[in-house]
Amino acid sequence: MSSPIVQPNDVPHPVRQSVSGDMVPDRLGRPLRDLRISVTDRCNFRCVYCMPKQVFGKDFRFIPHSGMLSFEEVARLSRLLVSMGVEKIRLTGGEPLLRRHIERLVGMLSQLETPDGCPVDVTLTTNGSLLAKKARTLFDAGLRRITVSLDALDDAVFMKMNDVGVGVSDVMNGIEAALAAGFSPVKVNTVVKKGMNESEILPLARHFRNTPVIVRFIEYMDVGSSNDWTNRQVVPAARIVQTIHAEMPLEPVEPHYRGETASRWRYRDGGGEIGVIASVTQAFCRDCTRLRLSTDGKLYKCLFATEGFDMRQLLRNGTSDIELAAAMAALWRQRDNRYSELRGQGLPPTERKIEMSYIGG
Ligand code: SAM
Ligand code: SF4
Ligand code: SF4
Repeated sequence: MSSPIVQPNDVPHPVRQSVSGDMVPDRLGRPLRDLRISVTDRCNFRCVYCMPKQVFGKDFRFIPHSGMLSFEEVARLSRLLVSMGVEKIRLTGGEPLLRRHIERLVGMLSQLETPDGCPVDVTLTTNGSLLAKKARTLFDAGLRRITVSLDALDDAVFMKMNDVGVGVSDVMNGIEAALAAGFSPVKVNTVVKKGMNESEILPLARHFRNTPVIVRFIEYMDVGSSNDWTNRQVVPAARIVQTIHAEMPLEPVEPHYRGETASRWRYRDGGGEIGVIASVTQAFCRDCTRLRLSTDGKLYKCLFATEGFDMRQLLRNGTSDIELAAAMAALWRQRDNRYSELRGQGLPPTERKIEMSYIGG
């Protein structure tokens, strides 16, 4: 049996002080603000840049069900992390809509409040293939914001990227269902890989211009160790902006908050907004306030980490909430990760990195 979930104000004062994200920044002075949770390491796509078939084939060993954190365990850690400074939670994976009854977890997390009484901002990233069926249920469970990944408008290009033959219309139906259910904003994530889909930048921008959907173009990253990434396959964000600007003039927009991953641009004629995520060419580690929780309960201080801190063991051996919170605060205090900045300075990793589908994108 797990011990009862502690509310921020139930934590004795000295502990509250020592576990508060506000009071315990990491070693580079960054507060804890965001939590990304991978709810499953499985996916029905095999995107070439994320889960290439040659690695994630039929012999690949995914986490067995007994090894996954239960929704109650995820909610318990989330509640404690919210008491320590987390304001935003993103559910991801793998494909989060493959996790059975994911709406139950959405419902649990949507009820969390920060210590000053604000609702926690819960969102989810999905490949969209199951969204047409699930959008209404997720909305009814309390989810209000959603990001759908879509790398192309051309079926042949899209199928080449997802490598399982899913067509664009399935994802478009998901986006339509999300808009119809009332999601706002609906964002689209597009990973741009040179030689595969840079021809899709303009069609995607044109398609979603003058709609409520915000497209964010993402530089192809060297996450994991299976996608054979090289720098030459990256289309720099500046080039993506230039390409769109040449046809549909853009101007920069102030970030919503410090540490926002996407830089924002709006069409000068009022046709809406796009974003670019320049994780390779303009690393944003200095403002990175994210902690990641893997499907099997390991906490990772960076997307490019090689090792995680095992919370599942603590959760399952009767550790109290105060001890769990203290362990997580100590982990955050020690954090000095800034992989992308170091990569930019020419310091490549030597160890094997964790795959994105496991740690959560
Ligand atoms: N399956 C869901 C999806 O695709 O939206 C959620 C998980 S996926 C790992 C989260 C995001 O990471 C997606 O938008 C995906 O395009 C992005 N992503 C995956 N591999 C990437 C890579 N190598 N470089 C940049 N973005 C990547
Ligand atoms: Fe699956 Fe998302 Fe990775 Fe594509 S990017 S393989 S949809 S987890
Ligand atoms: Fe954050 Fe690590 Fe990405 Fe830098 S490389 S922005 S520290 S997740």
